[in-house]
Formats: sequence, structure tokens, C-alpha cells
Amino acid sequence: MFKCVPCAVEGCRRYALEDMYTCLQHAENSDEVLQSLIASLSDSHRHRDVVMTDVRLKDIDFSNVHLTTCDFARCVFENVDFSQSKIQACFFDFCLFENCNFDGSDARHSVVAGSKIMGSSFTDTLLIHTNFMGIDARDCDFSSSDLYYSNFCSSHLVNVQFVDCNLKNADFRYTDRQNVSFKYSNFEEASFS
Ligand SMILES: [Zn+2]
Repeated sequence: MFKCVPCAVEGCRRYALEDMYTCLQHAENSDEVLQSLIASLSDSHRHRDVVMTDVRLKDIDFSNVHLTTCDFARCVFENVDFSQSKIQACFFDFCLFENCNFDGSDARHSVVAGSKIMGSSFTDTLLIHTNFMGIDARDCDFSSSDLYYSNFCSSHLVNVQFVDCNLKNADFRYTDRQNVSFKYSNFEEASFS
């Protein structure tokens, strides 16, 4: 698991980057640090315990990345391609995702709780035990995905597709749903109350 070492700058509540004393925002040449961090993550090697919080990422190709137990809390992802990636047990809590693509990815055991997700695609993904608690999702597609034991409790879902998904033991209690489709999915094996 990533180390929760506080940033050395007094009063900063973010975690320090790996092998550094400060968070990204307080690093010297933070733009260069961010670019090299993105480049190092973009290969297909397995990276673990990376901390990259409170960062805005736009038009990035993270397809085929392999990340384990990383912290991306409170980031903004705009037009970021995570297709075919493995992002296992990673933290994406309180993020904003806009026009992102997770098709064919394996994001099992990850935490996306409290995030806002707009116009994003999660088709044919492995989302077993993934925590989507309290998300605000609009115009998203989770079709053909395995959502075994996933948790969407207390989420607000508008125009969201769950067509032909495995919903066994998925938790949709206390959700607010408008135009949500569970067609061809085993929704009777999920919890709604
Ligand atoms: Zn800091």
C-alpha cells in the first residue's frame, strides 16, 4: 500500500510523492515532475503505491497501464483513456471523470466513492468488489461488465446502462436512478432495498 507520508510543507494536508519530501503541488518544477510521472506510468510495467492526488489530467493515454494500490484521490480526469488497463485496489475517491474510457479494464477492489463521472464508458470491465458508493454518474455505460459485490449504495445515476452485467451481490440500496437500464442483467441477485 502507498505510504501516507505527509508533505513537508507546513499546513499541507496532501501526501508526499514517492521518494520525495513534498506533494506534487509543492515540488520544485511540479509540471516537469508531473510529466515524468505520467510518462513513467504510461508503459505496461506494473507500478504500485504511486501517490498522485489533486492533479488535473487531460487527454492522457493510460491504456494498458498496470497500477496496484495507488492513490489518485481528488483528481480531475478529462478525456483520459484507461482502456484495457489493470488498476487494482487503487483509490479514485472524490475524483471527477469526464469522457473517460475504461473499456476492457480490470479495476477490481478499487475505490471510486464520492466521485462524479460524466460521459464515461466502463464496458466489458472487471469491477468485482469495486466501491462506487455515493457517486454521481451521468451518461455512463457499464454494460457487459462483472460487478460482483460492487457497491453503488447512495449513488445518483442518470442515463446509466448496466446491460448484460453480472450484478450478483451488487449493492444499489438508497440509489436515486433516472433512465437506468439493467436489461439482460441478473438484477434479482443485487440488493435494492
Ligand atoms: Zn504539499
